[in-house]
Amino acid sequence: MRIVFAASECVPYSKTGGLADVVGALPPALAFLGHKVTVYVPRYRMTRIENPETAIASITVPFDDRYRFCSVLDGHVQNGVQFYFVDYPPYFDREALYGTPLGDYHDNAERFALFCRAVLEATKILGAPEIFHCHDWQTALIPILLKTLYDEDPAFAQTRCVFTIHNLGYQGLFPPEVLPLLMLPWDLFSMDKLEFYGKVNFLKGAIDAADYLTTVSRKYAQEIQTTEYGFGLEGVLRARTANLVGILNGVDYTEWNPATDKMIAANYSADDISGKAVCKRDLLKEFGLAPDTQLPVLGIVSRFAGQKGFDLIQYVADRMATEDLIVIALGTGDREYEDLFRRLAKQYPQKFAVKIEFNNRLAHKIEAGADLFLMPSKYEPAGLNQLYSLKYGTVPIVRATGGLDDTIEHYDPATGKGTGFKFREYSGEALLTTIQSALLAYRDTQKWRRLMHNGMEQGYSWSVAAREYVKVYERAKQGRLTPIVPV
Ligand code: ADP
Repeated sequence: MRIVFAASECVPYSKTGGLADVVGALPPALAFLGHKVTVYVPRYRMTRIENPETAIASITVPFDDRYRFCSVLDGHVQNGVQFYFVDYPPYFDREALYGTPLGDYHDNAERFALFCRAVLEATKILGAPEIFHCHDWQTALIPILLKTLYDEDPAFAQTRCVFTIHNLGYQGLFPPEVLPLLMLPWDLFSMDKLEFYGKVNFLKGAIDAADYLTTVSRKYAQEIQTTEYGFGLEGVLRARTANLVGILNGVDYTEWNPATDKMIAANYSADDISGKAVCKRDLLKEFGLAPDTQLPVLGIVSRFAGQKGFDLIQYVADRMATEDLIVIALGTGDREYEDLFRRLAKQYPQKFAVKIEFNNRLAHKIEAGADLFLMPSKYEPAGLNQLYSLKYGTVPIVRATGGLDDTIEHYDPATGKGTGFKFREYSGEALLTTIQSALLAYRDTQKWRRLMHNGMEQGYSWSVAAREYVKVYERAKQGRLTPIVPV
């Protein structure tokens, strides 16, 4: 099958979160199954391309004030996948991908509309696919355009669109005036299309227009159809339930494997775990803490956002400081939570350490050097860090939601079964009690070893997920009008 991925980030060229990991790993897994896969991403300031060549010198993108002209760079074939970069420096040669700590860039609608139009036009020259696989609101205009302005384009007569929701919390909401600015028809501004409480909602439009929808875990696919997790789109999603399926993200074990990881102080595996103690000392040193402690280390690598359960951590942080544990956190995000961790590190310098930065090397060091990993998310579409933690023998403490619920089995000391610690109620007390039971279990060294092993033996390979996606592509090719039994 000829498949084109369009996404706003992709490892190793750009990353703010799990989307980049998925777009970096799923295409090679599909290529390995014999499919012809092409990936389009914007060229940001952070994007490093080896020997870029111009694939298309100029693509005209109409806006109502004036035309914009972008180009497409050939990033060559990597791991069996062809990469192209949409280059338009006024929009993408910026400090960050979507905005600064002060807020989103004011012209995000224009930026990603230009990207979507450029991808459609570029594929008409470089090869129209059987399947467009689009991701999150930034590429939502592709299914919308295919069903509207481009619906009579012969280049796309056989093309179907699969749309993956990586996080329903980000919908691409803009004032109605963006429609004429982007030269989109006004009749899209209706309740059954893009209109959402007086605004334009790109994600809503894609949910309606895509031939098939996926999200990144089975549980999240169910949750987003409920009022609690649906962010107001639960009704729209329920209307598409026959064409909505959850496929759990895999892990790129060429990058996240303690046996081969080059970023950590010592390699180790389930058979010989001795290197993990070296990694722990190295981590403690890296964060300016005494390296020879007997206390368990609880790691956090996260966007500092409400979604990730930081309000719960905030609520119990001072009580956590009285427990026998050390907390090491890495992340950036909301000012409130950055300040919280700065305060904790100052007030309890032997118990809390933090680095406010985005640093992949440190993320690896935390996965390897910590004993426990904390993800108390309010909602979590898939979650990758808990999967990395399992592989690194770092026992996850998670809230039972979305992908966290699908992937972590609560540990039962009586049977020795399970892979981590899980709580359901979204409260600080539930979080603290769960941390305390993990600390209690940690004292039994032998049982703890078994618990680590249980996790290290788990495998979430992309080849399994890729096969599931191929089934979805096949179904999408049959067209959305056929009633489809969810896979
Ligand atoms: P989300 O996409 O919602 O942020 P995921 O758990 O799906 O959450 O993916 C987060 C990804 O981003 C992981 O690969 C994680 O290691 C990485 N990450 C998050 N924050 C940082 C950081 N401060 N430094 C390095 N990597 C980070």
